[in-house]
Amino acid sequence: RREMAKSKFEYVRDFEVPDTCLPNCWAVVRVDGRNFHRFSEQHKFTKPNDLRALLLMNRCAETVMEEIKDICLAYGQSDEYSFVFHKKSNWYKRRASKFITHVVSQLSSSYVFYWNKFFPDQTMLYPPGFDGRVVLYPSVQNLKDYLSWRQADCHINNLYNTVFWALVQQKGLTPAQAQDRLKGTLSGEKNEILYSEFNINYNNEPAMYRKGSVIVRNKVNEISKKIIKLPDRAEQEEVEVCRVRSQTVVLHCDLISDAFWVDHPEVLSC
Ligand code: ATP
Ligand code: ATP
Ligand code: MG
Ligand code: MG
Ligand code: MG
Ligand code: MG
Ligand code: MG
Repeated sequence: RREMAKSKFEYVRDFEVPDTCLPNCWAVVRVDGRNFHRFSEQHKFTKPNDLRALLLMNRCAETVMEEIKDICLAYGQSDEYSFVFHKKSNWYKRRASKFITHVVSQLSSSYVFYWNKFFPDQTMLYPPGFDGRVVLYPSVQNLKDYLSWRQADCHINNLYNTVFWALVQQKGLTPAQAQDRLKGTLSGEKNEILYSEFNINYNNEPAMYRKGSVIVRNKVNEISKKIIKLPDRAEQEEVEVCRVRSQTVVLHCDLISDAFWVDHPEVLSC
């Protein structure tokens, strides 16, 4: 192996090109399930929102954050999750391929690893895949707008899907008829259909469905008892040690208004 390192083949290493993420930018890795339209059908996801599938995605995203400490925030909805690397991160010298592949593989393996916990009655029929990309945002405003964009997307899709599936499941419309009925409707009209025809107040739908999931780190003081032996004493002594531990927490809050950023200044701080 050592000989190989100095072999005449060594030159092929130079074909690897640098892919450093620009310094001082927020790097967002977004992963998205491959053909989950099909995957969700084959695995009998409830429509429009399968709670098990969303909780599984959240568990996977928490695992990614536990493994990669330079991620300061994650946002997920449907089959996608976005992970924000802090602008000061120098993880793997900010190599884009490392950011993307480690996030995607950690999330994918977690999806399979935790599947049974969330789908005890549904065997996994084939291995799912996820794609990944990294996008750099040079300002905090760009980053906030990115997250607002994903959350607005969640809202638009979820409002549409909620009415669509109500028409199909409760009114017996075919998917084509439901699609036709909703063509060109504004959000106010969709809200109105939900309220007048299904007695559903959209604002009372679960926050996770309407807002998606935001994962941040929470600092908690952990007090534990430790047996120590002091060098100048013969006997052992029990002491309380306090250390600050960081835990991930899943929220379903609004990211579009300023309130979140006012309440969580630590997310983007150094
Ligand atoms: P692509 O490979 O291009 O991403 P896709 O089929 O995954 O194709 P998306 O736009 O990512 O397309 O949409 C994901 C689809 O997966 C949704 O349209 C929805 O049908 C389904 N889906 C994802 N999560 C859930 C869930 N929690 N409950 C029900 N359906 C879901
Ligand atoms: P990195 O995250 O940087 O890749 P690494 O620990 O995976 O760190 P590698 O250079 O990829 O470092 O080396 C993989 C290591 O995994 C080997 O050094 C060896 O110890 C172990 N390993 C991999 N495959 C096998 C195998 N089939 N049998 C025994 N050990 C293995
Ligand atoms: Mg190796
Ligand atoms: Mg996609
Ligand atoms: Mg997808
Ligand atoms: Mg998607
Ligand atoms: Mg390795």
